[in-house]
Amino acid sequence: EKKRSVSFVEQFIEEDLAEGKNGGRLQTRFPPEPNGYLHIGHAKAICMDFGAAEKYNGVCNLRFDDTNPTKENNEYVENILHDISWLGFKWNKIFYASDYFQKLWDFAIWMIRNGHAYVDEQTSEQIAEQKGTPTTPGIASPYRDRPVEESLRLFEFMNTAEAVEGSMVLRAKMDMANPNMHFRDPVIYRIIHTPHHRTGTQWHCYPMYDFAHGQSDYFEGVTHSICTLEFVPHRPLYDKLVDLLKEYDGSAAKGLNDFRPRQIEFNRLNLTYTVMSKRKLHQLIEEGLVTGWDDPRMPTLCGMRRRGYSPESIRNFIKSIGYTKFDALNDIELLEAAVREDLNKKATRVSAVLNPVKLVITNYPEGQSEEMIAENNPEQENSGTHQITFSRTLWIERDDFMEDAPKKFFRMTPGKEVRLKNAYIVMCTGCTKDADGNITEIQAEYDPESKSGMAGANRKVKGTLHWVSTDHCVQAEIREYDRLFYVENPAADGRDFHELLNPDSLRIKNNCYVEQYAAGCKPGEYLQFIRLGYFMCDVDSDDNRLVFNKTVGLRDTWAK
Ligand code: ATP
Ligand code: MG
Ligand code: MG
Repeated sequence: EKKRSVSFVEQFIEEDLAEGKNGGRLQTRFPPEPNGYLHIGHAKAICMDFGAAEKYNGVCNLRFDDTNPTKENNEYVENILHDISWLGFKWNKIFYASDYFQKLWDFAIWMIRNGHAYVDEQTSEQIAEQKGTPTTPGIASPYRDRPVEESLRLFEFMNTAEAVEGSMVLRAKMDMANPNMHFRDPVIYRIIHTPHHRTGTQWHCYPMYDFAHGQSDYFEGVTHSICTLEFVPHRPLYDKLVDLLKEYDGSAAKGLNDFRPRQIEFNRLNLTYTVMSKRKLHQLIEEGLVTGWDDPRMPTLCGMRRRGYSPESIRNFIKSIGYTKFDALNDIELLEAAVREDLNKKATRVSAVLNPVKLVITNYPEGQSEEMIAENNPEQENSGTHQITFSRTLWIERDDFMEDAPKKFFRMTPGKEVRLKNAYIVMCTGCTKDADGNITEIQAEYDPESKSGMAGANRKVKGTLHWVSTDHCVQAEIREYDRLFYVENPAADGRDFHELLNPDSLRIKNNCYVEQYAAGCKPGEYLQFIRLGYFMCDVDSDDNRLVFNKTVGLRDTWAK
């Protein structure tokens, strides 16, 4: 029997389903704030929210948590939709927290009427000073016990164009001595005049996260509200506000107390050598330290897609790190291993020479060429073949030749044989140098009886080199990426993050050659450059320029 691996989150879900809670229904949601692009941390939440719904025959909706118009827009909404689909998940419905602005407003009015909320005219600094500490009680606002009618009038005023941002807020009247700081009269509404991407200038007053999230879950019928650990201390407030909402809508009184969404928290995904906070990602872009959200060095899903990571490899990586109750730093090499493992099965093998030197096959007729057969993917049955043209002059890697080679050098050196991949066995005969001693050309002779498939091909030759024919290849630009930061955990480093940037995170090679077949590949097709690594054609390519991104090397060579 196959071992069943169930995360603690899924265990909670299974228990609730077994007990028949919420009518045995499972409904989750993924709640991105449309204030940036999704990153691999979001993918962890997506895999849980959508994955659990799939596994237990539930539904997962998408809800845009759009309660702060100053940072949100439709471009982000569109790209979030695209990235979720790319990862391979389907939402049931799309909701917006902004759909509930009226409902939340009405509930807030009820809160004021029933002594659960008041308008505070202090500054945010004053309010913060009065919060107290977890071990000492806070100080009540002088506005805490103002008449209900006054709060109602001011709350209406807060939602007008005349209200000054920051001049007043609505606070829930809870418990200024509660050891849980979130209960010390949390701010639940603030004035914002920036137009909202969906509701325009209809509202001037917006609910805070804590006053929108649990209520939105409740309105939609979410049964399990799965989020990350930093929301653990918010959970009692989440539950309390759902209690009040049930009192408000009468469901509690009618005995309909069985339904309530349950918040469950798991650990965030943090990756070594990068940052995940949207604020910092925005900063990298704004300061031109990367080219945009989809820069292949970014931890964003669009960046990883452009770099050549497959959605399956990201999902496999997330499965491998699992869900726990303890924050950790995840090793980026685990992600890269997952990428290699998946691309090994997917990538078409092609030839490319990144650091070229000319090889002349002196006994091969000038002006002649022939088509060789290249396997598309030996790891994939029925993946077929393509043709690669062989001729008298080829490009090979400069590193694959040594004039005075040690015994263990199994590549090209005078007097020794090597195999040219998919073609012939050749014997190196010498090389030509310029006045400075730089090698400008290498010469070899081929054995016409050693072509793959012929009897002469079977003799033992240690090295196999890749090559492209100089007259049958296309020049390309290759972009090689390294870690964006040179320290493991830039978020935890005391220094300014500019000091931690790896100055060598992008290396561009302009004088590379790829075989004709590779030149016809489009962004989105997974390629392996034989012996070099995985690559993907970049969106910057056009009719006059071919650009490839290095996705990841064939094996882990970093930090050596
Ligand atoms: P930031 O604080 O950087 O803006 P966020 O968590 O506020 O990020 P949201 O768009 O609000 O970003 O996140 C949507 C969902 O994705 C939330 O449920 C959040 O818990 C989850 N999420 C965000 N980052 C991570 C992460 N690194 N690991 C796991 N889940 C995450
Ligand atoms: Mg946020
Ligand atoms: Mg958030």
